[in-house]
Amino acid sequence: RKGNVIITGASSGLGLATAKAIGESGEWHVIMACRDFLKAEKAAKSVGIPKENYTVMHLDLASLESVRQFVDTFRRSGRPLDALVCNAAVYLPTAKEPIFTADGFELSVGTNHLGHFLLSRLLLDDLKQSDHPQKRLIIVGSITGNTNTLAGNVPPKANLGDLRGLSGGLNSLNCSPMIDGGQFDGAKAYKDSKVCNMLTMQEFHRRFHEETGIAFASLYPSCIAETGLFRNHIPLFRALFPPFQKYITKGYVSEAEAEAEAGKRLAQVVRDPNLGKSGVYWSWNSTSSSFENQLSKEASDAEKARKLWEVSEKLVGLA
Ligand code: NDP
Repeated sequence: RKGNVIITGASSGLGLATAKAIGESGEWHVIMACRDFLKAEKAAKSVGIPKENYTVMHLDLASLESVRQFVDTFRRSGRPLDALVCNAAVYLPTAKEPIFTADGFELSVGTNHLGHFLLSRLLLDDLKQSDHPQKRLIIVGSITGNTNTLAGNVPPKANLGDLRGLSGGLNSLNCSPMIDGGQFDGAKAYKDSKVCNMLTMQEFHRRFHEETGIAFASLYPSCIAETGLFRNHIPLFRALFPPFQKYITKGYVSEAEAEAEAGKRLAQVVRDPNLGKSGVYWSWNSTSSSFENQLSKEASDAEKARKLWEVSEKLVGLA
């Protein structure tokens, strides 16, 4: 039978490129989990994914109710689940004031981490039941959350501190909209959310890999400076960042090429038998070969991962 993969945020950028890479082969059916139904339908058509190889289902990660509804809708479709890709993200580096999810969490961490945390926790049961030879749960990470890299050292750096802001519900009412309890900073909130993504993947691996055989992985697929993620950035940065990437860090090709290449990389992590190892943070070298990369000290802190897991469970209503 065909494999079934859910990809969140498949309506643009990396998610769409991955949906295309996987959906055009005919061996997989892609469930595009998107907040804007029409945009996702148009996007799938525009990149030419054959109709029979994809389904759009509504998912707004900024609402826990919507996450639960999505899981119900998916289950009612009767499809088995063989792979889940947590890809969607918001990035609000120029926001002066925090904005909040339906449940009152700061939007970047609320969407990128907490929405995906609930989604993947609920869908773990579905993955367990799959009879596919390679079941995978993939959470897209980023170099920017990794302070052991050049890009990860551009201030403001990621830092979850002792999670006091998260424990307080990630809003100004109780403590702070930032995980570490500090002043709101949109760029930092995004980086923090990516550290949460990478910690969550490793905690999943420790708790569930042996028992379930599911491979849990994260990755940094390369920089794609022209995706929607940069739409909220200041115009000067938007103008300068692609050439900077091209000439300084050499991490950049043309936008379309970079996006297609990153989509192929993420598709590899979904279905390539050689990338089936669990607990790995994949990266690619200049010749496009994958390798197991090191995470920063904070992004590989097992004690922090456990605490993050427990606090997140409470916030999303699982504990
Ligand atoms: P895009 O902005 O192009 O894509 C983000 C996707 O997330 C969009 O489809 C967007 O939907 C969706 N999304 C946002 N909020 C929600 C929500 N509340 N519910 C459901 N979907 C939502 O960015 P990229 O493709 O660049 O980013 C994809 C992933 O890649 C992210 O995890 C990001 O951290 C990671 N990444 C990106 C890098 C880059 O260089 N661009 C580098 C490293 C990592 P909509 O289309 O409706 O806006």
